[in-house]
Amino acid sequence: MGIIVQKFGGSSVANAERVMNVAKRIVETYKQGHSVVVVVSAQGDTTDDLIEKAREINPKGSKREMDMLLSSGEQISVALLAMAIQSLGFNAVSLTGWQAGFTTNSNYGIAKIHTIHNERVKKEIDSKNIVIIAGFQGINRYDDITTLGRGGSDTSAVAIAASLGADLCEIYTDVDGVYTADPRLVPHAHKLDDISYDEMLELASLGANVLHNRSVEMAKKYGVNLVVRSSLNNNEGTVVKEVEKVEKLDVRGVARDNDVARIALVNVKDEPGVAFKIFSMLAKNNVNVDIILQSIGRQGKKDISFTVNEDNLDIAIELLEQHKDVIGFEEIKATNEVSKISIVGAGMVNNPGVAAKMFEALYDANINIHMISTSEIKVSVLVNQKNADKAVQAVHDKFHLV
Ligand code: ADP
Ligand code: ASP
Ligand code: MG
Repeated sequence: MGIIVQKFGGSSVANAERVMNVAKRIVETYKQGHSVVVVVSAQGDTTDDLIEKAREINPKGSKREMDMLLSSGEQISVALLAMAIQSLGFNAVSLTGWQAGFTTNSNYGIAKIHTIHNERVKKEIDSKNIVIIAGFQGINRYDDITTLGRGGSDTSAVAIAASLGADLCEIYTDVDGVYTADPRLVPHAHKLDDISYDEMLELASLGANVLHNRSVEMAKKYGVNLVVRSSLNNNEGTVVKEVEKVEKLDVRGVARDNDVARIALVNVKDEPGVAFKIFSMLAKNNVNVDIILQSIGRQGKKDISFTVNEDNLDIAIELLEQHKDVIGFEEIKATNEVSKISIVGAGMVNNPGVAAKMFEALYDANINIHMISTSEIKVSVLVNQKNADKAVQAVHDKFHLV
């Protein structure tokens, strides 16, 4: 029998009872004859609590120390889960990210996995141990601990599954699978039996945090069999897989991203090179820009607005102010009271009516659209954050995703 990787999120191991429940599930799989490698997140709200603890002491603490701090949450979980499995009479060994061989680059807080030196994990599998690995973490070339970004344990799981050539990677969470919208926002959203890697990647990138977007990217790249399911019941989950190209449009889901900010540069010169100056300067400083909108010129001036991740808002404004003379604008207007609402589905490009239908849903709900962006597989709009949940519901129901 082959190797199965199982990942359990924070809510699945939030307390002793849940840890025992997870231990029993793992043992069930092990008893069927599989080698089991488990990846775990920090318990419940531990990561948020650690961030808060750091803020109380130094809101501008170094990223290296933040990673040292945050990685401790997962270290607690792996030890407790290994002990729980041992209490059931089975052999388990817990490993931190570095013990499991996860090497990353040095981008603290959002590090990317380089390689997994999986010899130790393989050795433990050969010794018939259930291997419990701390998600979300690795070490860089200075032997310092790094973390992979919020939600990064999913990526740890897919990465180890790819590295070991596992038969299956199961992501256990607090919902039954991937839904047509976040079931917390749309209670009548329904579970998808399957979804393509591309659609899932888009949904995850656009705010559906049920999977870390990089985990999906990696699953697609290495052809990992990925399933999302609940740790609290035995319902079948959602299979994330490669599917053939579809011509027929199928809107698969709606996503909401509240971590968005909009910056408007008012009265920039209407001449060649302005956009280049703004966006190359931001790119050089690692500020990712998403939707861009430019007004038509009037008396030699125009406005350029764009969105960035909320976390980058302050740095983006600071950079723009520093380069005010080179770029040449009159005023910056910025807000983080906006949200991005997106619909995702392959085949969008051949169906011009889809965007119109989304706009109609928002019109019917009396919601104003600030910005629009479309691609082959999605349509996104920017709305006021206070309207975001209503917008998700209106759009979801318009496409009869119920
Ligand atoms: P875990 O701690 O297991 O990693 P997360 O909180 O990261 O769990 O992800 C699960 C949550 O993702 C769900 O509780 C749900 O509210 C949210 N979510 C957002 N969009 C979706 C979606 N389209 N389908 C399912 N869940 C979604
Ligand atoms: N504990 C980390 C977080 O809360 C990683 C994860 O849960 O995937 O973001
Ligand atoms: Mg998660």
